[in-house]
Amino acid sequence: MSSITACVRFRPLSSKERRDHGDSVCIQCIDSQTFLFKDEKEEEYTFGFDKVFYDNSDQAQVYEFLALPIVKDAVDAINGTIITYGQTGAGKTYSMEGPSILVHDEQKRGLVPRVVDGLFDCIKSSEGTMKYSIKLSMVEIYMEKVRDLFDLSKDNIQIKESKAQGIVLNGVTEISVLDAAEALQTLSSGIANRTVGETQMNMSSSRSHCIYIFTVQQELKKDDRWKTGKLILVDLAGSEKAEKTGAEGKVLEEAKTINKSLSALGNVINALTCGLPGKASHIPFRDSKLTRLLQDALGGNSRTALLCCCSPSPSNALESLSTLRFGMRAKHIKMSLHAKSNEDKCAKKDGSPSPSKNEACERIL
Ligand code: ADP
Ligand code: MG
Repeated sequence: MSSITACVRFRPLSSKERRDHGDSVCIQCIDSQTFLFKDEKEEEYTFGFDKVFYDNSDQAQVYEFLALPIVKDAVDAINGTIITYGQTGAGKTYSMEGPSILVHDEQKRGLVPRVVDGLFDCIKSSEGTMKYSIKLSMVEIYMEKVRDLFDLSKDNIQIKESKAQGIVLNGVTEISVLDAAEALQTLSSGIANRTVGETQMNMSSSRSHCIYIFTVQQELKKDDRWKTGKLILVDLAGSEKAEKTGAEGKVLEEAKTINKSLSALGNVINALTCGLPGKASHIPFRDSKLTRLLQDALGGNSRTALLCCCSPSPSNALESLSTLRFGMRAKHIKMSLHAKSNEDKCAKKDGSPSPSKNEACERIL
């Protein structure tokens, strides 16, 4: 039985945290999977995750453990999802993008540019025997609206479910890319559009969820059809409590909507982990756009990895504890025996739907 791969990453102390608390940290490393956590009341907890990345870990290690197996599977038409979770400033975007997705410094490159390289490397190694195509989409969820980051005029994309393709974003822009450099340029234009939206709507990117979608199509020589793997990377909005931000008016409204979608995510995770065996419990995927979009990732046919990003500082212990508890719950979601290859649901090259029905993997409680 497989489950979500749940990892934790502690970023280095920030200069402000060092100024306020010196070198003190609220964690003590036990090993690469276990650590001791001390909350603000000096209570101690032991946490165990699939992998813990301490402040000395590098971007390559995170990619190799968390993303590389999922990238290889996507090329074999197995869906994959990678999610970063945590309070604002905890290192979600740094882990996802690095300082910028176009940065050349090998040490600093984040998951997105490494995934791009990984996908094209895998494809290159099977060149000659297989033909592939890669398409990119990029959306942002802000105040319960899905915005197309490749076409800002599409500011309220609907999420639909189709038997053949699972969860789909209706009419979302898909851009075909031929190599890693073109993919990175394309994604960087999506990131730039995020900033345009921030100014237009007077919001901060930490208040929206950013979603990268890689569709990998593989041509099947035998019968003129494609099989498709979808790889989704999600940089979530900050998980901090609305009241803590001291926000008012529109900003408070924003914070509440974000908290609503992140608690919807928590509720889905609870329903997936706490349902009674043998009983078909209701999973509230439809309670938010985020959970609807992640329906396949959490409840169905996908390999999923969660990176819980935390500050190691005692000043952020409360939020870190909440992030770690979220991660522990997610770790206990049990999914299908194996996420399946989508070969049996491939569409004909002319776009007509596949005659074969995809059976979504059943969740095992
Ligand atoms: P978030 O996206 O969770 O709000 P960021 O990724 O923007 O947070 O990180 C906040 C700050 O911490 C940034 O200045 C970033 O460069 C720095 N940072 C985060 N993680 C690391 C890390 N692992 N190593 C070095 N700096 C980091
Ligand atoms: Mg961020």
